[in-house]
Amino acid sequence: MKLLLGALLALVAGWCVFLSMLVRGYLRFRGQRVVTCPETRTPAGVAVNAWYASIDGLLGKPRLRLQSCSRWPERAGCGEKCLREIEGAPNGCLVRALLAEWYREKRCILCGASVSDIRWHERRPGLVATDGTTHEWSEFAAEELPDALRAHRPICWSCHVAETFRRSFPDLIVDRESIARRQGLRAGARE
Ligand SMILES: [Zn+2]
Repeated sequence: MKLLLGALLALVAGWCVFLSMLVRGYLRFRGQRVVTCPETRTPAGVAVNAWYASIDGLLGKPRLRLQSCSRWPERAGCGEKCLREIEGAPNGCLVRALLAEWYREKRCILCGASVSDIRWHERRPGLVATDGTTHEWSEFAAEELPDALRAHRPICWSCHVAETFRRSFPDLIVDRESIARRQGLRAGARE
């Protein structure tokens, strides 16, 4: 009986280790990435098959496969040479890494608050276009982000919400500073 119980416990422990390794591998490879397409030398938004890479990684060095690409379906069946870029820096080309690097040590162009400490699921900082309009980064596809970040300036979540409200409901706002703020926004976004 003790032997059976010991074997059962060993089986459960082994299963837990297997599952944790599988999930860790999945978390490592999931997520949208921005790579430079080897064919066009332009940004492409891709995602690798994280479960496949995770399972394959249990047997040795994981082989990556694309799960999606912004150039599909037109270029479906390509050689997936962009995978080499991901293999070289799995985390470096993640959209999250791109955004974290861009917001690092930046401040909101309206209130001056730091936007470098990003909370990914709430109160995320936004982007200000040259016309003064504010946007969330999720409005841009992964492959558009590199150009979007070059053309926008950072704004904190609170200012983004306030500016969006002002823009959406201008008749409801009595704000003496509104004109000055917008002028400041446009000037800041052009810098
Ligand atoms: Zn702000």
